Amino acid sequence: MSENHVSFLRKVFLSADVYAVCLQHALSTEKEEVMGLLIGELDRENASSHISACVILHRSDKQPDRVEISPEQLCEAAIYAEELKQKLNRPMRVLGWYHSHPHITVWPSHVDLRTQSQYQIMEPLFVGLIFSVFSSDSGSTYNKVDLTCFQARGNSDDNMHRREIAIAIRPSCLHEYNLKALMDLPNILMKEVLSVSHEINYGTDEFAKLHNSALKALQLTEVASSVTLPMCDLLQMRLNSVTARIKEVQMIRDKLKEQVEAMSR
Ligand SMILES: [Zn+2]
Repeated sequence: MSENHVSFLRKVFLSADVYAVCLQHALSTEKEEVMGLLIGELDRENASSHISACVILHRSDKQPDRVEISPEQLCEAAIYAEELKQKLNRPMRVLGWYHSHPHITVWPSHVDLRTQSQYQIMEPLFVGLIFSVFSSDSGSTYNKVDLTCFQARGNSDDNMHRREIAIAIRPSCLHEYNLKALMDLPNILMKEVLSVSHEINYGTDEFAKLHNSALKALQLTEVASSVTLPMCDLLQMRLNSVTARIKEVQMIRDKLKEQVEAMSR
């Protein structure tokens, strides 16, 4: 396929609150890849994409390197985008997807590129983001996070390549709809644990039943301790800093008022 100026993206603008939600989601598990869909506005004239909301997806297939989005999930995300469009009066639509690479490099696999190219058939400006998490440089104890923004180029499996797209993270406040997406994360993770345990047929093996019930309790506790509690701490910290900032701004306002009054006397 020939490439003209509108057949691929030039730049992606990602709002900081969506980045925070995606990263929190990516950091929620180091065992499997997690994924979600990105919502925002497309600027076809400049071939750029403005991402300002997202949908965290429930994982039904927990095989490694299996990041498939079902048509139902795509449809639900499209309905959510439509709701946001009405609410914000902006042309919001599903314009990309993200997934995590725990303990592996950030670069898209062949499966990722094939999935991405399928989305590009429907929307040439569709974009993919990958968050590489839980990897560290040798000799460092820091948890390294890498982010890549890509599209697929080439039309067959043999010559499929990634095209790196420039990405800029835009400062933003934590919008109510993105806060809700963040708050839904523990519920989605708990649903995943419960759906796996419901699928198992124990038959008459009481020991297996007991073992799996204990495992389920352990996994639910893990969600609470590694996702819910840190998230509560983070939101409390954010609340404290916002409250302190409001006080600062109020003091500045009072001082300015005093100055204006003094000048008008
Ligand atoms: Zn991948």
